[in-house]
Amino acid sequence: MNEGQKKEKCSVCEQKQENGIHICDIYICESCEREIVNSDVTDEFYRYYLQKLRKLKHMLLNIS
Ligand SMILES: [Zn+2]
Repeated sequence: MNEGQKKEKCSVCEQKQENGIHICDIYICESCEREIVNSDVTDEFYRYYLQKLRKLKHMLLNIS
């Protein structure tokens, strides 16, 4: 029941990743964070990310 490594689900790629950061209640894995930081990534990824954030924002607003 007690796993040595606690993996959390990334809010962007929706995969369980060990390394990541929390922004408020949002968890973003290392690789997604890196992609966002190195933002000469494609519009597509950025749009996808914004979509995710919008969804998360809705969730957060519904809770509060
Ligand atoms: Zn991710």
